[in-house]
Amino acid sequence: MSSNIFDVAIIGAGISGMAAAKKLSDGQRSVVVLEANDRVGGRTWTSATEPGGPVDFGGMYIGETHSHLRELGLSLGLETTSAVAQGTDVYLVNGERVLAPDGQIPASVRFAQEFSTSFSLLNDVADSVGWESPWDSPRADDLDRMNVGSWIESNVTNPVVKQLHHHAVNSVLGASANEVSMLYWAYYISQCEGIESLLATRGGAQNEWWVGGTAQISNRIADSLGLDVLTNFPVSSVNVTGDPVVIRSGNGNEILARNVIIAMSPTNAHRIQFTPQLPEARSQLQMRAPMARMAKVVMRFKDAFWRSKNLSGVVMDSDEIGVLMFPGTKPTDTAETLIGFIGGEYRDEWALKSASDRKSGMLELLHRAFDEEPSDLFYYNETDWTHQPWAQGGPVTFFPPGVMTATRSALRDSIGPIHFAGTEASLMWSGYLEGGVRSGQAAANAILSKS
Ligand code: FAD
Repeated sequence: MSSNIFDVAIIGAGISGMAAAKKLSDGQRSVVVLEANDRVGGRTWTSATEPGGPVDFGGMYIGETHSHLRELGLSLGLETTSAVAQGTDVYLVNGERVLAPDGQIPASVRFAQEFSTSFSLLNDVADSVGWESPWDSPRADDLDRMNVGSWIESNVTNPVVKQLHHHAVNSVLGASANEVSMLYWAYYISQCEGIESLLATRGGAQNEWWVGGTAQISNRIADSLGLDVLTNFPVSSVNVTGDPVVIRSGNGNEILARNVIIAMSPTNAHRIQFTPQLPEARSQLQMRAPMARMAKVVMRFKDAFWRSKNLSGVVMDSDEIGVLMFPGTKPTDTAETLIGFIGGEYRDEWALKSASDRKSGMLELLHRAFDEEPSDLFYYNETDWTHQPWAQGGPVTFFPPGVMTATRSALRDSIGPIHFAGTEASLMWSGYLEGGVRSGQAAANAILSKS
């Protein structure tokens, strides 16, 4: 396609690939970005034309400590706004409707004590594993032999609290507790600063969002730098037997570059044929660490009917559908929004229902949660990320038992001219936009420091 030899070819135009592109371009390197999809943004995907205001179908929230993401977005001229709604959260669990003013389950609630102590215990395990090299932590082998479901059975007694632990894994990772390695779950919590931080809006991972939508970050980088960003370029092979590296697409195009950044999840990378074959640990990682399963539902109403009862709009439902719901109205919107996440085993069950049953089930859930029949729903959208061919699921990769101790640092180890980005490769906030930005910038820095 081009006889030009680029300093760097970045494969994947998600936020990690675009963050890498910006850093390299700022460092005066010639860069081409190759993207399989017909749009940039990857697991961020914004529509500016939905009724009531822009909608993010994928990644959206900014955590309080997401400094790299915030700095990048602000440098592109974007603005943030608070995602925190005041009021009382609702838990639907084990047939009960429990109210949690300002997000705190009152001490008088029967399961409050074990809820608190068991989540503290989980944080202790996470601390003991750490985020830098969890596979070297003292109990790594034992924890990696165990799935999270077994840990819950051994460490939690109250059935309601067990249910809440299962809900947390499905909602955060998009996989069932019985599928996920306990070592991975402990590492994931550690690198995200604790389980409370993962689940919280107030001061946690769901603290703010971007006015106008998250995909503007990737779009603005693509537009502003005058970069070569080639969409509809599904890379099928990367050959590093000589210099330059030869990159080919499934539709017959070829690019030459001195360095390559693979800016995607391990399972996405597994669809690319590498010559010579990747080292054993990296191959195993790409084969054995799948993408999780997540659907995101956006509902818009004329009025925030839940607010008249001082409810925040946050619902933790492990009875009806298995939704984790947050309020989602931005100051620039002309409608009141609720956003539901259905992950892992809950998503699998939900996906088997008809479209009309899914929608009516969601409205019945709101009725029970808010103790009022929802009225004036005028927008309803579902994005099931398992149906996105170039993401293959979401929100993030998970590790089944045995994978982390077998593959160790293969997530982020470079191999000659091949460097790995993608949120999964980040040391901190892996799985999040912040991790995407950090991993892209780290891969770019590694290349910049070579010459
Ligand atoms: P990706 O965005 O997956 O980018 C990889 C790119 O590579 C894609 O564009 C893909 O099309 C492309 N690609 C794949 N294969 C090929 C190929 N062979 N050739 C060329 N291109 C290829 N994070 C948060 O911080 N806050 C949130 O609120 C949040 N909510 C989320 C909600 C949902 C429903 C989902 C799905 C994710 C959410 N996340 C959230 C996670 C966040 O979106 C991701 O961590 C982040 O976008 C990952 O970026 P990335 O660049 O690492 O990977």
